[in-house]
Amino acid sequence: MQQLDALTREAVSLAGGARRVIPILTAKETEVGRQMQICNSCRYCEGFCAVFPAMTRRLEFGKADIHFLANLCHNCGACLHACQYAPPHEFAVNVPKAMAEVRGQTYVDYAWPPALGTLYQRNGLTLSVALAAALALFLIMAVAAQGTLWNAKLGGNFYRLFPHNLLVGMFAPVFGFAALALAMGVRRFWRDITPATSGAALSGPAAAEATDTVLRLKYLGGGHGEGCNNEDDAFSLARRRFHHFTFYGFMLCFLATSVATLYHYALGWTAPYELPSLPKLLGVAGGVSLLVGTAGLWRLNRQRHPLHGDLAQKPMDLGFIALLFFTSASGLALWLGRSTPALALLLCLHLGAVMALFATLPYGKFAHGIFRTASLLRHATEKRQPSPVGLADD
Ligand code: SF4
Ligand code: SF4
Repeated sequence: MQQLDALTREAVSLAGGARRVIPILTAKETEVGRQMQICNSCRYCEGFCAVFPAMTRRLEFGKADIHFLANLCHNCGACLHACQYAPPHEFAVNVPKAMAEVRGQTYVDYAWPPALGTLYQRNGLTLSVALAAALALFLIMAVAAQGTLWNAKLGGNFYRLFPHNLLVGMFAPVFGFAALALAMGVRRFWRDITPATSGAALSGPAAAEATDTVLRLKYLGGGHGEGCNNEDDAFSLARRRFHHFTFYGFMLCFLATSVATLYHYALGWTAPYELPSLPKLLGVAGGVSLLVGTAGLWRLNRQRHPLHGDLAQKPMDLGFIALLFFTSASGLALWLGRSTPALALLLCLHLGAVMALFATLPYGKFAHGIFRTASLLRHATEKRQPSPVGLADD
C-alpha cells in the first residue's frame, strides 16, 4: 500500500515542453473520495460535525478538498456508529478511519523542513529518543556542575545549578524553531486548501466562530451535545472533558512561564516563586489539570474501538499523551521536592521532559490542533459564501 501511495502521489506532464506536476490522489485519499461520494448521496450524518456540511458544498473531491476534510474530522466516531453502510456492509463506509489515515499523511506532507516529516512515521521511537537524549543532557550537565545528583548544595534554588541565562539560551532556540516549523507547515496547508474552497477572505465573524468552536471543542459533542462514541455505541462527553483538561492545563502552564518571564525581565523579580504568586498558582493549576486530562485521554485511547481510526497512529497518540503526563508530573514533583536532597535530580527530569516536548512539538500529535484549527477557520469562512452547488449551508 505504501508503494502504491508513493507511485500515485504525483504525475509529471511534459505536455507542451513544460514540466507540470499534477496532483494525483494517493490510495488513502482515493478511499476518502469514494466514501464522500457515498455520503454525499446519503447525507444522513449532515448534522454531526463540520465535515458533512463542508462535503455538501462539493460534488467532486480533489486532493486539497480531501486534506481539508480530513483535518476537519475530529474522529468522534458518531458517523461510523450511525452508518448503515459501515462494515460488514459491502460499501465498507468508515469515515473516521479513512479520514484518520489521510490526516496522518498530511502531517508528513506538510512538515517543515520536509525531510523531518519522517519523524511522524515512527513517532513513538522519535519521542523516546528525544526524551532519552534530553534527560541524558541535563543529568550529565548537573553531575558536571555539582558532582552529584543527590543532596547538591542548592538551598532550594535551582538557578544555582542551571543559571537563568543558560536555560533561556538552551530553551529559547528550541521553542523558536518549533514555532517556526509549525507556522511554515500550516502556512503551506492553508495555501493548499484555500483554492479548494471559495477562496474568500477571512472575516471577523468567521474567525470568532472558529475560535469558539476550537475553545469549546464543539465537534467532540457528536452533533447532539451528548458526546462521542469511544469503545461502543454509547455517547460520552469524557473525551471532550479530558481534552479540555489537557488543553487548558497546557495553556495555564504556558501562561505561568510567560508571567514568570515578565516578572524576571520587566519587574526584576527572580524565581523561584512560591504560593500564592501568580506564576506558581497558574503553574500548579495547569500541572494538575494536565495530569487529569492526560490520564483520562490515555484510558480512553486504550479503550477506543479499533474501527475508529488509524491504528498506526497509536504510538504517536499515546507517546504524546505520556510525554505531557511526564512533563506535568515531573513539574509538580519538582515543586513538592524543592527543599529535599532530590532537587537536582527532579530538576533534570523536568527540564529533560520540557526540552523533549518542545523539540518534538512540530513532529507529533501536537500538530493536529494546529491543522484542525486552520480547517475550522477555513470552514467558518467558506460557509459564509454562497454554496457553489446551490445548496443551503448549516
Ligand atoms: S457515514 Fe454512512 S450514514 Fe453517514 S452520511 Fe455517510 S453513508 Fe450516510
Ligand atoms: S468521525 Fe465524527 S467528526 Fe469525523 S466525520 Fe464522522 S461525525 Fe464527523
